[in-house]
Amino acid sequence: MQKGRFCQPQNTLSKENFRHTHNLPVFIRNLLMSQIPVLLLGIFCLLTSSCKGSRPEPKIYQRTQFLLGTLVEIKVVSNDPAEADRAIGNAFSRIRQIEDLMSARRPGTWIERISREAAGRPLVIPQEMVKIIGLCQKYSRLTDGAFDISIGAITRLWQFDRPMETIPDARAVEDALRLVDFNKIRLDSQNGTIELVLMGMSLDLGAAAKGYAVDEAVEEIKGEGIKAGLVNAGGDLKSFGRKPGGESWNIGIQDPDHSERIIGSIRLDDIALVTSGDYERYIIHEGIKYHHILDPKTGWPARGCKSVSAACAEALEADILSTALFVLGPEKGMALLEDLPGAEGMIIDASGKMFISSGWKGALRLEERRMK
Ligand code: AMP
Ligand code: MG
Repeated sequence: MQKGRFCQPQNTLSKENFRHTHNLPVFIRNLLMSQIPVLLLGIFCLLTSSCKGSRPEPKIYQRTQFLLGTLVEIKVVSNDPAEADRAIGNAFSRIRQIEDLMSARRPGTWIERISREAAGRPLVIPQEMVKIIGLCQKYSRLTDGAFDISIGAITRLWQFDRPMETIPDARAVEDALRLVDFNKIRLDSQNGTIELVLMGMSLDLGAAAKGYAVDEAVEEIKGEGIKAGLVNAGGDLKSFGRKPGGESWNIGIQDPDHSERIIGSIRLDDIALVTSGDYERYIIHEGIKYHHILDPKTGWPARGCKSVSAACAEALEADILSTALFVLGPEKGMALLEDLPGAEGMIIDASGKMFISSGWKGALRLEERRMK
């Protein structure tokens, strides 16, 4: 970060600080004049000692970087520019670390190693990978496989992480489907190992890694002693504490039909909110939109929704949940959302109809044209 970006308000002396002494008797004037240096020194000492004690008012410091294939924006509330700078820098480094650990297509990441080295035999993996994969597996069971990180063989064909030129060959998708089955991922949390039972299987943590990175970035910021802030990785966000002045963070949810508009907003404290949308990565082929959230049963884009927002305590869980609900579709998705303690959200189905969870009704402020 450039040092000059954190500007401090300056203390300036206004003209009203000087008094005229011309009309006073001569002896008083002389006395005053002789004492002026002493007086000035006293005022100066007073000013500097009080300045040392009082710190500037807390402000929002903010920086943005392109990471995890998206624009990551970090805001922190602090009254110390150096502290804010350090916290934001550490948070970005941590996100970069997670990107190195979990990216699907980069050589040398753990995801790539698992595909290569865990086929047919257990491989010891980092504890944080055990935690993430464990939660993904829980949601695969809860959604009967609508969410499935063993979808790697299919997403490799689609290549959503590059500028897409065409859709994959239907036969290739059909073939790759036999490698998609979350029941064939053997995770041993106790020993910290993973085994992929089917030869050629590969994992894709694209639906969860951003959320985990947001959680970890927030932990880094808190670790610097900062009490409030917000991390937003292209729609995966988490806030903690409140803005200067005590106001909650106001979060806008993107309109899936108009990228420049928001469809609604909500005030959130200490919560993660993640949105999965059909507008994030897609290709239009022969007039049909093919987006990046796939139905693991078919290998083709899930067709029930346009956008799903899920809120819960951890961004990792909200990220998994938003993708899972998207694939489940509005009816089954809402049923699961209402069942999960501590989770709220909104589903917009393929026709544009909105479904809002009971805890969000009243809290979510919809844009006027949507309320008709
Ligand atoms: P998100 O944007 O969080 O909804 O995640 C979408 C990404 O997750 C895609 O780019 C794929 O890498 C991966 N993905 C797509 N469909 C699924 C699915 N049904 N289950 C798990 N991961 C998926
Ligand atoms: Mg997700």
